[in-house]
Amino acid sequence: MPKRKRKSRNASASEVGVEDDVLLRATAPLQLCYYGNPVLRKRAKPVAEITEAERQLAVQMLETLYATGNGIGLAATQVGILKRLIIIDIGEDDDDTYEPLVLFNPEILRTEGDVVAEEGCLSIPNVTAEVRRPEKIVVAGMDIQGESVHIETDGLLARVLQHEIDHLNGVLFIDRISGLKRQLLRDELLWIQQAERPA
Ligand SMILES: [Zn+2]
Repeated sequence: MPKRKRKSRNASASEVGVEDDVLLRATAPLQLCYYGNPVLRKRAKPVAEITEAERQLAVQMLETLYATGNGIGLAATQVGILKRLIIIDIGEDDDDTYEPLVLFNPEILRTEGDVVAEEGCLSIPNVTAEVRRPEKIVVAGMDIQGESVHIETDGLLARVLQHEIDHLNGVLFIDRISGLKRQLLRDELLWIQQAERPA
């Protein structure tokens, strides 16, 4: 069997469905915000209109995600921008038509069941925990062109969507674990928090 082809991890305009006449500049990855940064606790504002600035931000966020090497999702809040925008790439490498997901104003319309799985967060490095969340969800939002999107999903995509939408509401995955489990992570969390704090 051939080895699975690894898709190149560069966010290009075509990959995220932007029309050719929209010129997007290549930019450096954005600065990630870490646990302890108050911005992570703020509620992001809806995006009224998707302009070139919003599309540019989405592409920059994808670049930032790929620069981490292991991330699969990012909310604008995590780069200090309080706009309701999330991007997800769970890396369906065996599908040539696969595109990363860019979603503005995502909203969970319906949930079903519940399931426990391990989560981590780019804003809380080296901390993981088992989190219980709904298993199946229906999410509505807008894509990078401003078209309405309706997603019905389960599994990893459902989990990442919920995790990223939580970020837009100032919620972190560690808020969804028991106090006892959080207590066990206390030292790691304190360490990240102190590193984030300006000297
Ligand atoms: Zn996160």
